[in-house]
Amino acid sequence: MHPNPPNDNGGIAQVGGITGLESAAVATHRELVRDRDGTVDLSNSANSNHVRLVGSQIWVRIDGWKGGTQVDDVQYVRPVRVPIHPIAGTHRVFGSRGGAHAGIDLVPTHNLRQGLQEPFPYVYAVADGVVIAYYLFYRGTYALEIRKDDDRIVRYCEIHALDGVRVGVRVKQGQEVARMGRMTGINEVMVHLEYFKGTASGGLTNRNNIYPNWQYDYVTPMNFSRRRDLLDPTFFSELP
Ligand SMILES: [Zn+2]
Repeated sequence: MHPNPPNDNGGIAQVGGITGLESAAVATHRELVRDRDGTVDLSNSANSNHVRLVGSQIWVRIDGWKGGTQVDDVQYVRPVRVPIHPIAGTHRVFGSRGGAHAGIDLVPTHNLRQGLQEPFPYVYAVADGVVIAYYLFYRGTYALEIRKDDDRIVRYCEIHALDGVRVGVRVKQGQEVARMGRMTGINEVMVHLEYFKGTASGGLTNRNNIYPNWQYDYVTPMNFSRRRDLLDPTFFSELP
């Protein structure tokens, strides 16, 4: 399901307003945003026809919904379909733990403590793409990298890929690609999601990309230990 009313050019932000809206989004949810058509009060816009709060970002309906800090022509689908805990304000959010958390954690509300048993919930491809890597990642779980045709990479971590989802295979948007993993010694299953623009080369984890020599092209530098083209994946947790 897409947050996407096609062909609805609702009139907002058609004047290159995205850039202004981006900066407003960074400032605060309650920022007032002004454009050619007037002022939009974002404090009451969660279900507005034109502006929608998505995590810490603002999505604007121009030609379909477009993400605030990652304006992107591509529409995504949810990576999970079971109910998940909200991440806002928790250690699951992007940039938490002093920046060590380079992604977001999507954690089912019905989890091990609530009696969740295997098989664990599916993880779905957010977009069409090609599997470019699969490897042991953390506490007995794996990471799966899928590259879209526009070179952006989504890294699904702390999971187990399904049979047949291996390097070189092409997957379709919405396809089941993995199951959430259970990390050794941790009483929750989840998927940890990371997002890269695809404009750099080398491994997605880069232990040297930390203070004081950090270089991040699209996010505020923190000790992510990631490749410089790291993006903020927060909106994936809020897709309808
Ligand atoms: Zn995580």
